[in-house]
Amino acid sequence: MLFSEDQKKRYSRQLCIPEIGPEGQEKLLSSKVLIIGAGGLGSPTALYLAAAGVGTIGLADSDVVDLSNLQRQILHSTGSLGVLKVESAAERLHALNPDVQIVSCPVFVGEDNIEELISPYDFVVECTDSFEAKYLINDACVRLEKPFCHGAVIRFFGQIMTYLPDKGPCYRCAFRQAPDPAKAPDPKKLGVIGAVPGVIGCLQAMEAIKYLTGAGELLTGRLLNFDALEMDFEIIELPPDPDCPACGRR
Ligand SMILES: [Zn+2]
Repeated sequence: MLFSEDQKKRYSRQLCIPEIGPEGQEKLLSSKVLIIGAGGLGSPTALYLAAAGVGTIGLADSDVVDLSNLQRQILHSTGSLGVLKVESAAERLHALNPDVQIVSCPVFVGEDNIEELISPYDFVVECTDSFEAKYLINDACVRLEKPFCHGAVIRFFGQIMTYLPDKGPCYRCAFRQAPDPAKAPDPKKLGVIGAVPGVIGCLQAMEAIKYLTGAGELLTGRLLNFDALEMDFEIIELPPDPDCPACGRR
């Protein structure tokens, strides 16, 4: 691939990195990443993937921008209140990098459309805020052998792990099933500091870039926990569970 003069300049700070280089940049430009959830985690993920030149970014979210989102969902602005998040995001991302094609999916992700949604993509970034969606995305990615990065945040805490087909454990290996909805705390009431999804979303973008370019080691078989109060990052080794109902071999 021949880079235009603009592309050489736009990507100059990563073209000179040995682990990326022109070869890695070509891979990024020809890659397709789906981000499910254009909120607190999806915002930094989408911004950094678009800035890095990931050629096609799919965004799935059925919500519209609400005033209470803006404390952390940095893709959106006050002028976008009431607008579909995928539309607000597409405008922002296109303004950031016109190289990138944005595919907006203003749909509620459910059992009926998840496989169709994820199948065209090379990598999925799970940026949702409900347990139901997390298990739905995990199980579909395992079924379709689609690599994905899971992220979650609450208050001052975040976690992230990356699933690779036939390699690592899946989300269900780590957390067998969703807590009882009647007993589970409501994330809206628990709250979150915007910088926490900022940190975890950036790490999710990094995982996607590393997967697409083949650079470094992914958080596969490793769950990273972030505690912003103690400013502590802890990695827990996570073996695959042979009895896992999603990816288990037994
Ligand atoms: Zn599993």
